[in-house]
Amino acid sequence: MMVDIRSQTQEDLQNQFILWDQPVYRLAQLLQWLYAHRVESWDQMSNLPKALRVLLQQTYAMSFPVLARKQGSRDTTEKFLWRLADGALIESVLIPESDGLFGEASDRHTLCVSTQVGCAYGCKFCASGLEGWKRNLQPDEIVNQVLAVERCEGPYRDGRLIDNLVIMGMGEPLANYDNLLKALKILNAPWGAKIGARRITVSTSGLAPQIRRLAEEPFQFRLAVSLHGATDETRGKIMPVNTKYPLDALAAACEYYQKKKGRMITLEYILIAGVNDGLDQIAPLAKLARRLRAKVNLIPYNKVEGLPWSRPDEQAQNAFLAALEKENVAATLRREKGHDIEAACGQLRLRTEQELQLS
Ligand code: SAH
Ligand code: SF4
Repeated sequence: MMVDIRSQTQEDLQNQFILWDQPVYRLAQLLQWLYAHRVESWDQMSNLPKALRVLLQQTYAMSFPVLARKQGSRDTTEKFLWRLADGALIESVLIPESDGLFGEASDRHTLCVSTQVGCAYGCKFCASGLEGWKRNLQPDEIVNQVLAVERCEGPYRDGRLIDNLVIMGMGEPLANYDNLLKALKILNAPWGAKIGARRITVSTSGLAPQIRRLAEEPFQFRLAVSLHGATDETRGKIMPVNTKYPLDALAAACEYYQKKKGRMITLEYILIAGVNDGLDQIAPLAKLARRLRAKVNLIPYNKVEGLPWSRPDEQAQNAFLAALEKENVAATLRREKGHDIEAACGQLRLRTEQELQLS
């Protein structure tokens, strides 16, 4: 199978252009077509000589995801369901910084992207894990989520819409490490999607060795760790990954990342009623947050069809937050945006697949 051209870094393409004896400015033109104009076909690259276009077409694939379904509206959280070349479904969620008031669109946008089809980690509360893991996304399939959303939503300022990226869609990003890194290089590059590394957050369920590996990379990506339990007992009940990398190992890897990058880590903590919202979690959670210089992001659980879990009532949510604050931990309680359009991880895909099976 041919590699997709949007899975290639500038360096990869440069090596190929040298072999072809093509001048450097042709490469700059090609990158413009790929990442500024976001073209879907070789024919659109009108300032490249026909012979070069043929050569490119014979060497690289160029595919673009097809929009299978969209929910939400431009000024609120929007969810995109994409169909990939092999028919697999993945999703991306576009979140405006602040919901548009009185019809005014907000000018900052965060995109949440997927990295795998399904997920092998099987967290008990998560829709993405329900049907298991199907495959890794290729670098271009990660990159194209950004470009395809920008194509759908344009026109906008300065040629780009998305200024923040969170790797929190379907899949465990650090289990698709090499493809993820290549995609992030392309998304970060000045010749690519130009998203600053400090504006890219990688969320992981806690793959300790890969967190250490990421710490060695020359990028200042933000790290978010899905904690969801501050003792091995509580975390182990809902996250099977905790058996492989218990809290001790995870905390040591996070500490390594924090020290190496000198940046604040985020601990994600979904509040699930009767499971991890007990005040017994506060002391160990505060201790960990202080050790890692982390802030805690509390997220009320988003109900998933077919799973027994639910979010605690607001009073319990606020009590948990207040108890953490009393321990001098920086914490926020996020009102989940897009709750009503199934914005959490894997939920739109799950429902669409269930409907497809019924029809
Ligand atoms: N696999 C990675 C990234 C994808 S999940 C990870 O686990 O971190 C992104 C975030 O969504 C994780 O913190 C995950 O625990 C959370 N999540 C999954 N299902 C959810 C739900 N139903 N409600 C709220 N958050 C959910
Ligand atoms: Fe996978 Fe993350 Fe969902 Fe766990 S929470 S099943 S790691 S996508």
